[in-house]
Amino acid sequence: MACVTYSYDAPVSQTLFDRAAVVTPGGVNSPVRAFRAVGGTPRFMVSGTGPYLTDADGREYVDLVCSWGPMILGHSHPEVIEAVQAAVARGTSFGTPGEGEVALAEEIVDRIAPVEQVRLVSSGTEATMSAIRLARGFTGRAKVIKFAGCYHGHVDALLAAAGSGVATFGLPDTPGVTGAQAGDTIVLPYNDLDAVRHAFARYPGEIACVITEASPGNMGVVPPLPGFNAGLKSLCAESGALYISDEVMTGFRVSKSGWYGIDGVEPDLMTFGKVMGGGFPAAAFGGRADVMAHLAPFGPVYQAGTLSGNPVATAAGLAQLRLLDDAAYERVDAVSAELRGLVTEALAKEGVTHRLQTAGNMFSVFFTDEDVTDYDKAKAQQAYRFTAFFHAMLAQGVYLPPSAFESWFVSTAHDGAAVERIAAALPTAARAAAEASA
Ligand code: PLP
Repeated sequence: MACVTYSYDAPVSQTLFDRAAVVTPGGVNSPVRAFRAVGGTPRFMVSGTGPYLTDADGREYVDLVCSWGPMILGHSHPEVIEAVQAAVARGTSFGTPGEGEVALAEEIVDRIAPVEQVRLVSSGTEATMSAIRLARGFTGRAKVIKFAGCYHGHVDALLAAAGSGVATFGLPDTPGVTGAQAGDTIVLPYNDLDAVRHAFARYPGEIACVITEASPGNMGVVPPLPGFNAGLKSLCAESGALYISDEVMTGFRVSKSGWYGIDGVEPDLMTFGKVMGGGFPAAAFGGRADVMAHLAPFGPVYQAGTLSGNPVATAAGLAQLRLLDDAAYERVDAVSAELRGLVTEALAKEGVTHRLQTAGNMFSVFFTDEDVTDYDKAKAQQAYRFTAFFHAMLAQGVYLPPSAFESWFVSTAHDGAAVERIAAALPTAARAAAEASA
């Protein structure tokens, strides 16, 4: 942990955090929110408008987390709020099919050519868990390849530790995941096609699928090297395995049709979440109709959900997606480019060695002097510099992801005023990063 002194100028948040810690493990409902990687008091937010969040102490922040991706139109977008209010007024859950689900599924299928059919669920975790089950059911095979540093939610089999070398069987990364649950997971280094080739050669006819983040954002932003995703696709096709592209983070964010819209590699199955829920719990998995036909009720692979396709969540998601036209993506891309330029300029001015890595409008800073192409390189960065940078930005009213291994997110609502506030905070934060010591 870095030698940083934190200003605990968030007394109401601190009181809430203390209260929360009594009734909730670690005081949070999702671990990264607890600020463990950077230290200090997590800010309890009470409202959000456009690019801004306001915490329980009444302080306003420019938000560069955007709820970890979903809020691509900014907070409280009037048309999304209106759609939600109209949906709520009609009732909140029926446990029957409804037109909103059909419309949202149609919107997804229209945007993403490889998705012929889609099933709605409530979280990205559920989407990847279901896609893996379906891939195993469809192929009749057990083994799954995933990549170190890629996160696919807290699915037991996908929490397997990063093994080194080729075709390493994953060991449970967390107590509670048994060897049996993780034993069919093969963890390989990201961006290493040879490792994938070796795994297929070593386990002929046993690998059900390869799952990868379309462009990883969960070890910081580490885009696939040219040809990596296409290579995965062809290795899968040669071996009768399915290629699953996890677009929970990139889907509908980096382009109208997500990372698929950028690299054009056609997955057999895809997973979505975040942006498609408009800030509500909605997610999906979909792909080839012949594969999706194996799902219940017609097929033998069981999958279900009491709140799947919830009318309020689908109304929010649909309203958000319908507002995301070409102009909206141009806007988000432009803001992202402007911010990246400002961040690099500020860090360079202070002589801070760094790499600013980009995937569409997602980006993150690595405090390192080499391009980051896999998890080992990501972990080799000087994360203590991020800690100092983070706290200096926070103190000046800019809310960054509280970890050096996360993507930063912007929205269409990040206007000139918001960018100016960030620009004004950067020199101090860059200096803090320069002066930080391990
Ligand atoms: N897949 C990816 C690529 C993600 O980034 C995440 C969450 O960050 C998930 C899956 C899990 O989604 P959720 O948190 O909605 O369960």
